[in-house]
Amino acid sequence: MNVAQFRADLCAWLDDHDLTPGPDHSLHAQMRQLARVHRALYDAGWMRYGWPVDVGGWGGPALLRAIVGEEVVGRRLAEPGPYSMVEVLAPTMIDYAPTELATQLVPRLLSGREHWCQGFSEPGSGSDLASLSTRATPHGDDWIVNGQKVWTSFAQFATRCILLTRTAPGHAGLTAFLVDLDTPGITVRPLRTMHGVDEFCEVYYDDVVVPAGRMLGRPGDGWRVAMDLLPHERSTCFWQRIAYLYSRFDALIAEADDPDESALGAAYLALHTLRCRSRATQHRVAGGTRLGPETSIDKVLLATAEQRLYDTVRDLLPGTLELDDTPWRSEYLYARAATIYGGTAEIQRNIIARRLLDLGRE
Ligand SMILES: Cc1cc2nc3c(=O)[nH]c(=O)nc-3n(C[C@H](O)[C@H](O)[C@H](O)COP(=O)(O)OP(=O)(O)OC[C@H]3O[C@@H](n4cnc5c(N)ncnc54)[C@H](O)[C@@H]3O)c2cc1C
Repeated sequence: MNVAQFRADLCAWLDDHDLTPGPDHSLHAQMRQLARVHRALYDAGWMRYGWPVDVGGWGGPALLRAIVGEEVVGRRLAEPGPYSMVEVLAPTMIDYAPTELATQLVPRLLSGREHWCQGFSEPGSGSDLASLSTRATPHGDDWIVNGQKVWTSFAQFATRCILLTRTAPGHAGLTAFLVDLDTPGITVRPLRTMHGVDEFCEVYYDDVVVPAGRMLGRPGDGWRVAMDLLPHERSTCFWQRIAYLYSRFDALIAEADDPDESALGAAYLALHTLRCRSRATQHRVAGGTRLGPETSIDKVLLATAEQRLYDTVRDLLPGTLELDDTPWRSEYLYARAATIYGGTAEIQRNIIARRLLDLGRE
């Protein structure tokens, strides 16, 4: 497959098929728009490239789906956060779910018929994820889940959740399931973020019955599932986020009067460094490399570039964040989350120090 030709064909298709979002910018509208875009892309085949044939894909290198994301998000047809969920969740589902389950359900995700979410963090377990306490207990052919998750992004829109539970002590006692969120005993409560959007939720699990066939891997594989999923959250899904950040950089140049060129240059350099790193990551994935701790570098670069960009907005558009009701304010506030979601900046630096640079534990 010629990648340049693929992009040209995709761009021609996007030019011919108007998927422009409506005027409503609420999160509900964004999620509806995402489903619309995914559906149209899936029906036309674009959303199938780069995914395995077993799950409704048409095969080909993963680079192809990165290009689809870049074009769709760069054109602002879908917002980068919600769009990234497929890239974060589907690879792990494909690797760990029983084949029949992946074959049955992944096409529903790719085609926008369903949204899914990721239930890892708990009130007492974020950075120290392995300490989580939501318990799954065997009961005949089922497992009974009890506990609470928090910061579960888009759970109020999701049909299913990749849920990390405890089935025994320690790292080897974690087990992952794909749970249907309409199962009795599940309560989803949206939480309002400081940027004014109900992006994430607390989710309660009270005697929730989960069939054993919904286990991802085997009992005790949960840590491995998490260690395979998080690298996607820390790298591949950024490729399209970068396209979005570039579009905001262009908007900043257009709005700033007599901008300080060195400040713009520094913001551009951070974005470009991130894009170079992300490009290398995309090529490693396309070459069959399994992602690991090196993705913490992508995560640090993303958070640095995103916050640098919005700090530059604050400096070059004086008063805009504080006084004007424009998207800049909510974007600036959301950029603060970049050093938290997917693992905090401190945790990424610990991983880089210990696992990549071998600097020891202190
Ligand atoms: C926008 C957003 C979306 C999110 N979406 C999801 C989601 O969909 N699903 C999900 O499961 N989770 C999600 N999260 C949660 C996210 O993964 C956690 O917030 C993150 O891992 C940090 O955990 P915590 O909030 O418990 O903070 P804590 O772990 O309590 O950390 C508090 C502070 O202490 C620091 N710290 C902790 N341990 C160390 C250490 N060993 N060394 C140095 N510093 C340390 C941290 O860096 C941080 O500054 C989301 C978070 C945000 C902000």
